Amino acid sequence: MPAAPETVLRVALPVPLPRLFDYRPPAGQTAGPDWVGCRVRVPFGRGDGEQVGVVVEVGRPDPDAPEAKPVHARLDSEALLVGELFESLRWVAAYYHAPLGEVVATALPGPLRSGQPLPETARHGWRATGDGLASLAAPGREGKPRRLLQALADRALGEDLLDQQHPDWRPAARALAERGLAERIALAGRTEPAAAAPGPTLMPAQADAIAAIRTGEGFGAYLLEGVTGSGKTEVYLQAISDCLAAGRQALVLVPEIGLTPQALSRFRSRLGVPVLAQHSGLADGERARAWAAMARGEARVMVGTRSAIFCPLPEAGLIVVDEEHDGSYKQQDGIRYHARDLALVRARNLGVPVLLGSATPSLESLHNALAGRYRHLRLAQRAGDARPPTARVLDLRKRRLVNGLSEDLLDAVGRCLARGEQALVFKNRRGYAPVLLCHDCGWSAHCKRCDAAMTVHAGGRRLICHHCGARATPPNACPDCASLALQPQGAGTERIEETLAERFPDALMIRVDRETTRRRDAIEKHLEAFGDRSGILVGTQMLAKGHDLPRLTLVAVVGVDEGLFSADFRAGEKLAQLLIQVAGRAGRASLPGEVVLQTHHPDHPLLNTLLAGGYPAVAALQLAEREAAQFPPYAHLALLRAEAPTEADVQGFLREARDEFGDPPGVQLNGPMPAPMARRAGKARGQVLLDARQRAPLHAALQHWLPRIAALKSARKVRWSLDVDPTDLY
Ligand code: ADP
Ligand code: ZN
Ligand code: ZN
Repeated sequence: MPAAPETVLRVALPVPLPRLFDYRPPAGQTAGPDWVGCRVRVPFGRGDGEQVGVVVEVGRPDPDAPEAKPVHARLDSEALLVGELFESLRWVAAYYHAPLGEVVATALPGPLRSGQPLPETARHGWRATGDGLASLAAPGREGKPRRLLQALADRALGEDLLDQQHPDWRPAARALAERGLAERIALAGRTEPAAAAPGPTLMPAQADAIAAIRTGEGFGAYLLEGVTGSGKTEVYLQAISDCLAAGRQALVLVPEIGLTPQALSRFRSRLGVPVLAQHSGLADGERARAWAAMARGEARVMVGTRSAIFCPLPEAGLIVVDEEHDGSYKQQDGIRYHARDLALVRARNLGVPVLLGSATPSLESLHNALAGRYRHLRLAQRAGDARPPTARVLDLRKRRLVNGLSEDLLDAVGRCLARGEQALVFKNRRGYAPVLLCHDCGWSAHCKRCDAAMTVHAGGRRLICHHCGARATPPNACPDCASLALQPQGAGTERIEETLAERFPDALMIRVDRETTRRRDAIEKHLEAFGDRSGILVGTQMLAKGHDLPRLTLVAVVGVDEGLFSADFRAGEKLAQLLIQVAGRAGRASLPGEVVLQTHHPDHPLLNTLLAGGYPAVAALQLAEREAAQFPPYAHLALLRAEAPTEADVQGFLREARDEFGDPPGVQLNGPMPAPMARRAGKARGQVLLDARQRAPLHAALQHWLPRIAALKSARKVRWSLDVDPTDLY
């Protein structure tokens, strides 16, 4: 029998158990500190099951435990997870009460998670072959391939430069390669930066913001508040240029909806270095390459959505979070992290500034700024000669409505079209109508698997549940009273488009919502096709951001009222943010913009405050309400959710969980209660909400509570999860 090993590797595995697992190094190898941060493939579970994990520490074996099994393979010769990134991931595991192995799996791109080697990041480029040069001498068919070949005639071009200078070059390159006219080659060395396009001279407020960031040393948090068009992006670009000039890397987070090709090309042309994009639409291999290029310090700037917060920054200089209030920064399943909050944590661990920008900062960030934890920088004016749009309320009471649109609104659209300009009609609800209603008995079409009405689609020919995707054909007669008076109630974007088309038959019109716009870049294509011709855009919040529309002068918002009376304590904040965002689309160029809000509640304090004092006034009002009600940011929440086929199992589990909670000081437990949508996709759903004035007692209580919940027998009958700092209480 071999002597017991003196040391074991403690490995974090992507399994839902909050502990590390001990393994021996393979025979003939010794476990030393050089293993820490390396991935290993290990036997796990029954039979020949395997997992890929990361070595967290090297320690002494537990004398009472059975002898550890050897790892099957060490996958990295040098640590993959080191320094600040590893430290920040441990922070995530502790703060969100999640197993470190699952945090690591969330943070790593797919190929790295599954154990593939760190990909090559050597640059590749293209050059013309001898045949290619010869073919250029002869006359040939003009087209993309030939234009690309001409560009390659003088010198080889890197693929990163091709991406920037020749959009859609890949098919042309493939065509050339097939004919032997061009070839792909490996390039030596780093990208030579292209000439950076000069930026405008900064306005005083922008210059002050930059000066504040420049004078800071090490970690510092800055909240840059400025209306849409006030020049926040110019401030980011200047701060990133400073960071690059100092030889450091920069990370820029943007919301899902904000990562447009237009935004990326602005960053690329202004910074003059390759800018890596990271988002969920990217192929796995590309994500892994971008990760590796940042880890090796080859790439200097990454612009990405939520998950980009996990990118390595060995030479970090700056983190920017654009539209920091945006809901897409919060992950809503698995490990429910908030990328904006992680940006703060990483910047602190890295000792670099973090710049949070928004026209409508979250109440959390405003609260931090008021408390002096963030430096508050403001850009009050729009850049250039754009002026803020004028806004007014259209009182709907006692007015005749045409499918939800008032005559006043239709008139405003008509005047806008007559001026040869563009109008945006905004309704945050897709489909034809939200409900199919029996006019005689009040029956309405509900989803069989959810507590929700089915949305009418396809002009009334289809019913779709927006919560579980169920589809049905509308009945010909009411199932309850056999009446034939079934009518779609209210209007979604599809019906609004139909109504506007009847009223303005000659107007150019496009609709932008999830139905018409499945692909990420489809919005851009739609809007580019629209160009600056006069016409009407109809859409959901997909239209709230993106492509500049210089001829857009009217924004008409339909359906404000749904947000005014929601039970969600964040509804007011979200509505105000959305309204400001949509309104910001009007009058971005020299034409003056106008915003009209249709409502049955013209005297609602939120609308009045918004119109009179803008977002800062609404935010102050909301903060006061939150403080009075002791909601975040004046309290800290954690939500335990459970779902199961039967309500009894959900309630049984949640009651036992409540009983396990005990009575820890400084933390209140509320519930069990049904979720706001108590049944969804055939599952009963319930929850328990914890709240506390201070974070520390809340986390201490969770630490104590979670292992007890996991050990409950009733926990096996439900799917449960914990959400720390939930943004949605459903
Ligand atoms: P935001 O990010 O706040 O929406 P941007 O940075 O995109 O604002 O600026 C809005 C517009 O104003 C852009 O077209 C930008 O080029 C222009 N702009 C920004 N700063 C200046 C400046 N100092 N001088 C002139 N134009 C500017
Ligand atoms: Zn009926
Ligand atoms: Zn459903």
